[in-house]
Amino acid sequence: PIKIEVKNVNFGYGETEILKDINLQVREGEFIVLMGPSGSGKSTFLRLLTNLEKPTSGEILIDHLKLTKEIPDLAVVFQDYSLFPWLTAEENIVLALKKKWKGKKSKKELFELAEQYLALVQLGHAAKKYPGEMSGGMRQRAAIARALSMGADLLVMDEPFGALDPITRIQLQELVLQINQTQKKTVIFVTHDAEEAIMLADRIVMFSPGPPGKILECIDVPFEK
Ligand code: ADP
Ligand code: ADP
Repeated sequence: PIKIEVKNVNFGYGETEILKDINLQVREGEFIVLMGPSGSGKSTFLRLLTNLEKPTSGEILIDHLKLTKEIPDLAVVFQDYSLFPWLTAEENIVLALKKKWKGKKSKKELFELAEQYLALVQLGHAAKKYPGEMSGGMRQRAAIARALSMGADLLVMDEPFGALDPITRIQLQELVLQINQTQKKTVIFVTHDAEEAIMLADRIVMFSPGPPGKILECIDVPFEK
């Protein structure tokens, strides 16, 4: 089944064209990596997918539904600022869960659920830590746990591991692959690192230098993951 359909999308700020003639179909459960030079519009494309911006023309369908101003069922992980610094890892996740369950679960149940998500990303031991007390890798694990706890089946990640040391980065790559494969989450992931792209992607979408950025080519990655 098709998860995302981007049809003839154009986007610009005023007179400046930022993205031109974007067409892309993403299958459910597919791992898409976006690459391309700085300024080619990758982040802008993510902002369109996450409904933070509206295309100037064309349309985006998620689960065959046209993206409107309503917040779609997806979760976003950015390079850093994904967590609230004044909440512990566990409280950050409880906050997301609260929104999702809207009074249908007790506080105790929400904290139990948060614990399960933290355990899933191997962060059970750090539930009571504030983001400022965690390493970059731990913060990204917590951000991923929070994204999963929202129940979204689409994960959008903008250079999420760019600031991590190489060992932590490999661990988190394995975590996100495992989530993609065992939980059938569709992933849209931006990176500048070709090795990371090849290790993670089912398909690499290359943007040409912008503005305006265009899709230069889509490359199937034939390797077993
Ligand atoms: P990438 O993520 O590929 O580096 P971006 O999507 O961040 O590219 O940016 C694409 C182009 O859009 C760049 O030329 C950038 O300067 C421009 N741009 C991004 N945001 C805005 C904005 N709010 N107003 C005007 N131009 C913008
Ligand atoms: P990234 O490298 O992740 O694409 P940027 O540093 O390009 O991020 O952009 C950071 C923020 O600044 C984004 O919210 C983007 O929309 C905004 N921005 C980027 N370029 C411009 C621009 N020329 N005018 C206004 N805002 C911009």
